[in-house]
Formats: sequence, C-alpha cells, structure tokens
Amino acid sequence: MANCVFCKIVAGEIPSKKIYEDESVLAFYDIEPQAPVHFLVIPKDHIENAGCVTSQNSKLIAHIFEIISKLADELKLKSFRVVTNSGTDAGQTVFHLHFHVLAGGVLGAMA
Ligand code: 5GP
Ligand code: ZN
Repeated sequence: MANCVFCKIVAGEIPSKKIYEDESVLAFYDIEPQAPVHFLVIPKDHIENAGCVTSQNSKLIAHIFEIISKLADELKLKSFRVVTNSGTDAGQTVFHLHFHVLAGGVLGAMA
C-alpha cells in the first residue's frame, strides 16, 4: 500500500534489521526499542490492524504466532511480551498490522 512504512520495508525500499522472513511474514528489530529486545512481526500483505482479522486471514495470524514462538526459542527469550496496538487511541502509529515482541530484563506492568 502506498505510503505505508511497513509495506516499504517489505518491498526493501526502507532498510530494516531483519530477523526472519518467509513468503508471508517478516520480523525485524524496532527502530526505537522500548525494551532490551524489541522486534516486530508483520504479515507481508497489508492488513490495517487486529480489527481487520477475519476467517479469510486468520491462518496467517496463527502462522505469525508460530514464528514468534520459534524466534523466542532461537533468541533464548525466557520471558517475553507480545503486544499489538489497534487504532489511534490504543497507540497505533503504523497502520499495518504488527506484533511487538518485547523481552530482556523485567518488563513493567501492562498499562
Ligand atoms: P505502533 O505504535 O503502531 O504500535 O508501533 C509502531 C512501531 O514501529 C514503533 O515501535 C516504531 O518505533 C516502529 N517503527 C516505525 N517506523 C519504523 C521504521 O522505519 N523501521 C523500524 N524498524 N521500525 C519502525
Ligand atoms: Zn502496509
């Protein structure tokens, strides 16, 4: 989608520090980490946010969680948090579905 920063990362038009990639999913480190380990896992296809998950694309979401589990294991994350902000009032700033994975040290309480 034009002017979507994460679509541009998927297309290679904006550089990113990639951790994992397959035909439908990309994982890369967040540019402004909020924890010692902070990466994002996104579908390559443009889906606006968690409010746009349907029976048509939910298998992709399950796949994303498989990848999160695999990466947590590979990166030896004993504890980690997965967050997705959906909508402006929830703090979403990039309107391409993404799952934050935060880890390292003791994370603060959820808001
Ligand atoms: P949101 O606020 O939408 O939940 O999360 C968007 C996240 O994307 C933020 O944590 C922000 O730091 C990250 N981000 C925004 N632009 C870029 C970018 O160009 N590259 C990377 N790696 N992360 C980005
Ligand atoms: Zn996009």
